[in-house]
Amino acid sequence: MSAHDHRSTPSWQWPESVWRGHVDAVRTGRGLLPPSWPDGARAAVALSFDSDHETIPLRDGETSPGLLAQGEYGARKGAGRVLELLERYGAPATFFMPAVSALLHPDEARRYVHEGHEVGVHGWIHERNTLLGAEDEQTLILRALETLSDITGRTPTGIRTPSWDFSGSTLQTVLDLGFLYDSSLMADDEPYEVLANGTATGLVEIPVDWIRDDAPYFTMDRFGALRPYTRPRDVLEIWKDEFDAAYREGGVFQLTLHPHVIGHRSRLVILRELLDHIGGHRDVWFATHDQLARAAREQLARPAAPTPGTAPATDTPPTSPTERP
Ligand SMILES: [Zn+2]
Repeated sequence: MSAHDHRSTPSWQWPESVWRGHVDAVRTGRGLLPPSWPDGARAAVALSFDSDHETIPLRDGETSPGLLAQGEYGARKGAGRVLELLERYGAPATFFMPAVSALLHPDEARRYVHEGHEVGVHGWIHERNTLLGAEDEQTLILRALETLSDITGRTPTGIRTPSWDFSGSTLQTVLDLGFLYDSSLMADDEPYEVLANGTATGLVEIPVDWIRDDAPYFTMDRFGALRPYTRPRDVLEIWKDEFDAAYREGGVFQLTLHPHVIGHRSRLVILRELLDHIGGHRDVWFATHDQLARAAREQLARPAAPTPGTAPATDTPPTSPTERP
């Protein structure tokens, strides 16, 4: 039984080759945390904004004006407020934008670049990429890459898959298209190299997590009986704790926000207070995901340390991993 023809068999009947094959398909390789940050900084802060706007309902074929207006708020009010805040704090950020969102709001996409931020690929129409065939997925990612390049005049170097997941062919497509980094997976707090079936790919992963995302705390299904909602100030406390620990450890604080979610008045205040909190710490490096990925990629040139559970790649004795201060 191969890893690909098991779907009709319950998982408890899978032979080891099948469950291990799935786990190994996309896996963490070497940790790529640099031993030091530029200009002697103690920690890195990588802010990202997924400018999905109207593509969330459009993705599901939902075209009602109410749902589209909820997304339009992100372009009309949210994005501008976010950009003003970032300018006030001198913080560069990365905006992952579905191509359809960029076509609806080309001036916004250009403004991101003009104000010193990065624009990254985030699908064509925020499609559910895990449901797509390999060819369709590749076509959409390539079309998104070309569309963002045409609109902004910059070729994106990074990709964040819509809704943060890989199909069976996403990794190969990302490698084929020559991306420097992906930012969709969650296996670490710090950047790492992605392995494909145990083979190093050179692709830098800048991990995300739902903990450091505004959407799970604040969004709701209007017809659902369950409406979880977290007080914005409680969310601020979670993110401060995440930053404080990253700062203590000399690591990365990565955050994912959405202009149509965080851009509301009662929520934007916590982004301002978070930036105040971060700004109260000395020696923080605000980096775009591209800048962070480049710093991480330099670590690939270090002598390889053995990955736990993996045979060393060569017969040479393993070197000690670089100890952090
Ligand atoms: Zn998104």
